[in-house]
Amino acid sequence: MKKSYLIIGAGLAGLTIAYQLKKRGQQVLLLDKGENHSSSIAAGIVNPMVFRRMNKSWRLDDFLPFSETFYKELESLLEVSFYHPIPILRCFSSLQEKQWWLEKSAKREYEDYLHDFQNGNTEHPLLHCEFGMGKVKSAYWINTSVFVENFQKYFLTNNELRVQEFHSGDLFPAEARYEDKIYDGIIFCAGHAQKYLPYFHHLPIEQTKGQVMTIRTNELSETESLNRKCFVLPLGKKLFKVGATYEWNNPTLHATPDGLHDLQDKLSHLFKGSYELIKQDAGIRPTVKDRRPLLGQSDEYNHLYLFNGLGAKGYMMAPLLSLEMAELILEGKEPPMEYNIKRFS
Ligand SMILES: Cc1cc2nc3c(=O)[nH]c(=O)nc-3n(C[C@H](O)[C@H](O)[C@H](O)COP(=O)(O)OP(=O)(O)OC[C@H]3O[C@@H](n4cnc5c(N)ncnc54)[C@H](O)[C@@H]3O)c2cc1C
Repeated sequence: MKKSYLIIGAGLAGLTIAYQLKKRGQQVLLLDKGENHSSSIAAGIVNPMVFRRMNKSWRLDDFLPFSETFYKELESLLEVSFYHPIPILRCFSSLQEKQWWLEKSAKREYEDYLHDFQNGNTEHPLLHCEFGMGKVKSAYWINTSVFVENFQKYFLTNNELRVQEFHSGDLFPAEARYEDKIYDGIIFCAGHAQKYLPYFHHLPIEQTKGQVMTIRTNELSETESLNRKCFVLPLGKKLFKVGATYEWNNPTLHATPDGLHDLQDKLSHLFKGSYELIKQDAGIRPTVKDRRPLLGQSDEYNHLYLFNGLGAKGYMMAPLLSLEMAELILEGKEPPMEYNIKRFS
């Protein structure tokens, strides 16, 4: 039988869980107050590696292939293009990093991701790459503003999304009633703004502000993304997104001169050329100290669910995690404790 679900927040988390439930024949209604400051600001880079220790990203072999299929399926449904494969050139920042790269790239389990070491300096005179560089394969980026706008439009035209703020005073959680309608489940996907709602308050969601700038330059390649201290992502037409800052426990939403200074400083460790600043944006990532997402059902009211904590790698994880969320809601299949909200009970 068709069940109905209310979803609070139409960012990456809300849109993907709404889609998974709808695909399984359920009725969904998304409420969004129209203040998205994370999913549509994000660079949307899906990087298979964590450069800090040159390791594969968490659950990479599950998340990466699933997410690619998911985004390609959505592109045909929405009839827009937002999925773009792109190699990432990592300019090493130390000899230690170069060493890690050489060790890892010799291992079979990394062969799909790490390309040969390159010397860099002569080929790329405008880049700081005194320790050499390596190319990461199997990376891609999602054009996040196109993705969010078109995915929201899909639900809007089906009357499944209302641009409206959720008010907790209108929720009767024991009976899963919001205003005058009773739902089979209510799923909170409010990102960092979950902090301002009275449910799931015990969870340690942190507000990690991030700022990015868009620059124009003729001196950078448009066929690869760069990384050292910051990322540089080609957007086309000689425009590049550069980011990002990490400002912990900062819930302010505006771009700042300090943020700009930080971005320019990070870029100066990678790029020696000249550029023109086009704009600066800010957003807030919903992060968790243990760097694992938050999926689960409330202990107190069993019709209430939460899908949050997507952090800095949300675009790679959300497709598969939203499926796991749908399995929890429809079949009672609990996500593993590693990212279940019960780990904080
Ligand atoms: C600068 C920056 C760069 C990033 N770069 C990347 C990247 O390259 N790759 C990557 O994978 N991830 C990146 N991220 C992280 C990614 O953006 C997040 O993981 C993801 O967007 C989180 O999605 P969400 O749906 O949980 O939250 P959000 O996108 O914040 O969505 C929450 C939604 O809830 C709505 N809402 C909140 N409260 C209410 C309410 N009371 N009533 C109604 N609606 C409400 C808001 O309007 C919003 O639309 C970046 C983030 C930032 C800030």
